[in-house]
Amino acid sequence: MIVQLAKRDLKTKFGNFREILYYDGQTESIALVMGNVEAQENVFCRIHSSCISAHVFNSIKCECREEMETSQSLIEQKGQGIIIYLDQEGKGNGHLALMASIKHKKAGLSQNEAYKKVGFESDARSFRPAAEIFS
Ligand SMILES: [Zn+2]
Repeated sequence: MIVQLAKRDLKTKFGNFREILYYDGQTESIALVMGNVEAQENVFCRIHSSCISAHVFNSIKCECREEMETSQSLIEQKGQGIIIYLDQEGKGNGHLALMASIKHKKAGLSQNEAYKKVGFESDARSFRPAAEIFS
């Protein structure tokens, strides 16, 4: 079961969000919320997984940073929305899996195939925390 641990206001380039931290006994997940979203219909939502390369190191090898910016921008325009950020680096396999798989990805394999090639699951993510936060 997921529990809410902390909450704060967060000013961003795309307006003011509420950052709500959850913990399910194993990992922390974050909901970034703008506007009144409780008991509403057709609320814009995005589920976003961590990406150290893009979010910390500004890598241009993936679209994670742009996807987050676009989501925040759309929510700002609508005045309402939710982004759920899941701590699932490397599709839940960790950063080592990502780094170890790069040579296979460069050789033409998909990211999922490249993870399997180096002994990890093709996609080890769990979306249970997101489902619990939404509910
Ligand atoms: Zn990325």
